[in-house]
Amino acid sequence: MERLRWTVARRDWLKAVGLATSSVLFPPVARSSLPLHRQLGVALVGLGNYANSNLRPALRETHFCRLAGVVTGSAQKGAAWAHHYDFSPSSVYHYDEMDELADDPNIDIVYVVTPNAMHARHCIQAAQAGKHVICEKPFTISVAEADAVIDACRAVGVKLSMGYRLHFDPFHNVLRNMALEEDQPRFKQMGGALSFELRGNAWRATKALAGGGPLMDLGIYVIQAACMAAGGVAPIAVTARQLPKLRPERFADVEETLEWEMEFPQGERCRGRTSYNESANRFRADGEGRWFQLDPAFTSSGLSGSTHLRPLNFDPVNQQARQMDAFARCIIDDCESKVGGDMGRRDMVIIEAIYWAMKTGKRVKVNLTRSVT
Ligand code: NAD
Repeated sequence: MERLRWTVARRDWLKAVGLATSSVLFPPVARSSLPLHRQLGVALVGLGNYANSNLRPALRETHFCRLAGVVTGSAQKGAAWAHHYDFSPSSVYHYDEMDELADDPNIDIVYVVTPNAMHARHCIQAAQAGKHVICEKPFTISVAEADAVIDACRAVGVKLSMGYRLHFDPFHNVLRNMALEEDQPRFKQMGGALSFELRGNAWRATKALAGGGPLMDLGIYVIQAACMAAGGVAPIAVTARQLPKLRPERFADVEETLEWEMEFPQGERCRGRTSYNESANRFRADGEGRWFQLDPAFTSSGLSGSTHLRPLNFDPVNQQARQMDAFARCIIDDCESKVGGDMGRRDMVIIEAIYWAMKTGKRVKVNLTRSVT
């Protein structure tokens, strides 16, 4: 019944929109200079803050892909997006209609931007509709779910990427290149923190929707940077401790502040901290006189940093546009994403190990091996 109502409503949207929406909310679209037939169509699933404030504007700067559809719980919002951002209203879907994407030639890539606990379901539905998939971080809320998404994508031969925008940022490229430089001392000590004071946004503090607290949402960036600084490898073991809650009623379900340490295979160590009740945004790596530091380290813009050699200065880039274009190129050139499912799964394994260490108070080994069932 709900689905029928949605379908009927879809027919009427185009007539209704334009009258009901404001040009302040929907600024005019600047179209890419490349012809549409060379661009892959992206459908955003979940039109919340990140989709609207970052991904939609980024899709005006991409060369190889463009906004071509949406999946949303609000028919009105979907119709307004179609009208204002110039895609077909027939490419607006309800979450319950994702199987219909299979018949939509406008959509090549489905970009999942819903709350964390819904990522697996939406990614699997997108793959089963035959669409390539980008999944926002964290990949899922468990390793088992990550495996299920990877399997679903492999089963139908679609490509999978994480929404790991920092791998397309020039500051983080310096870190990656320094970590991989041969004949140079390795980074031995790393440290990073990402925290903000959580207000509103109830799903982020609800375990059933977020899968965890700030570790899932923010700490994952420190994990990513540490693995990059260690030369692209995962830690072998972790320890962790949860700090006492200052707002226990707000964070009844998830950790409020967490500290953890990662040990890497060649003895490197990284201390991380993340919180929903502090403010921090930094990363530093040190090794025998070489160092790299960023502060702010993990935002979409305004990064600032230096190395033992020089201050870092780069022209601003749109990380999300670069990230989506890189994935579109993978599809066009038939290669794998450098931020693919294996990397997303790696981070879920690390996160599960950190939570287990937090719970048990013990050192927990990080086991990336996939169990055979
Ligand atoms: P948000 O709350 O602003 O948006 C979530 C969207 O999901 C909304 O449109 C909401 O209507 C929809 N939704 C569907 N089912 C829902 C349900 N049962 N409960 C609540 N909302 C539901 O969140 P956001 O900040 O846009 O985050 C969305 C995803 O993007 C998260 O996984 C988050 O980790 C990720 N994110 C990534 C970055 C980044 O820099 N890569 C930044 C912010 C968010």
